[in-house]
Amino acid sequence: MDLKKYVEAHQIVYGDLGAFAAEQSIRALRLIYPERQNELVPLRLNPVASYGKHSALSGAEGYTSKILSSGLTLSFHEKLWAHNADLKSEIANTIVHEYIHRMTGKTHDSKEWANECQRIFDLANIEVKVTPWKKLTLLNGERKGGCEAGSLDYGFLTIFPAPIKESLLDRIENNAPRIKMPKSTLSTLVATTKQRGRPTIK
Ligand SMILES: [Zn+2]
Repeated sequence: MDLKKYVEAHQIVYGDLGAFAAEQSIRALRLIYPERQNELVPLRLNPVASYGKHSALSGAEGYTSKILSSGLTLSFHEKLWAHNADLKSEIANTIVHEYIHRMTGKTHDSKEWANECQRIFDLANIEVKVTPWKKLTLLNGERKGGCEAGSLDYGFLTIFPAPIKESLLDRIENNAPRIKMPKSTLSTLVATTKQRGRPTIK
C-alpha cells in the first residue's frame, strides 16, 4: 500500500485527526509488527463504535458489528476519553490495542493477549509482569477470575496500555528510559495452589 495515499485518504475523510491516526497506524505496524506491515487496515472514526449489542470507544473487525467487515473503528469524541492522557497519546495507544486484537484474533482473557501486552511493554521499556486471566481459588475459598498477584490487574489488562499516559509508540521509537508500572495497578489476588497442598502466593 502507498503509505502517503493511506494518510491522505484519512485526511480527506476525517481531517487532521484522521491523518494523525493513519500515521499512528503505520507506526504501530512498523514498530510492533514489522514483519506484518502489509496488513495495514483502514480506520473508521465514528461518533460511537458498535461493539456487539453495545457501544465502545474502539474495536477491531470480528469484535465490532458485522456490518464493518475490515479495519479498526475508533470513536474520537474528546468527551468519551477520560483516562487523563492527551488525546493524541490515547489515539496512538488505542490503535496499538486494536491491532493486537486484529493480529491475534483473541480477546482480553486469552493467553495470547497477555503475551502480546508483555512483549509490547518490554519494547516500550515499561517494567511490569503480565499474566493471563484465569480462574483462581482464593485463600478464602472464593473462586474468582483474574491475574496473578503482582502482575498487572485484569482491569488494566483489558484497557491496555492504560494506565500509561504516554504514547507507547513514542516510547518505543525514542527508546525512552525505563519506568515501572505503579504498584496500585497490580493485582492483589492471592490464590491457593493445589500442587503443594498449602496456601501460597502465586
Ligand atoms: Zn480490547
